[in-house]
Amino acid sequence: MAELSMARPTQCHLWQNENVRPEDLRDALQVIETWTDESHLSKHLCRCKGCGQLYVDVWYELIDWDDGDDQTQTLYIPVASEAQIALVKDALPPPLSLDLLGFHPRITELWRDGARKFAWIGKT
Ligand SMILES: [Zn+2]
Repeated sequence: MAELSMARPTQCHLWQNENVRPEDLRDALQVIETWTDESHLSKHLCRCKGCGQLYVDVWYELIDWDDGDDQTQTLYIPVASEAQIALVKDALPPPLSLDLLGFHPRITELWRDGARKFAWIGKT
């Protein structure tokens, strides 16, 4: 898995907010392009309504065959160039590849066993 440094959107209120919450993102981001919209995977290019920062929003579901309690994860990866957009757009989601988890900083929303974890990863 390659570690890839992406944009650091220091002007964005989502970056400045130490305790960013899911509702902050839902209100702040506007989908401008849909690349994938399937039952276990969606991928969009979004723009912050406040500052114009572009984020790639990736949602995927990991199917847990043992007990049927599926785990879903959403990533919001800030991007600043066509090249960065293309990298994230082409990266396959887990379990096919761990490439997406090499992009940082990013916001990660993880649902597992009914509990939600939501945080910036690799911000500092
Ligand atoms: Zn912003």
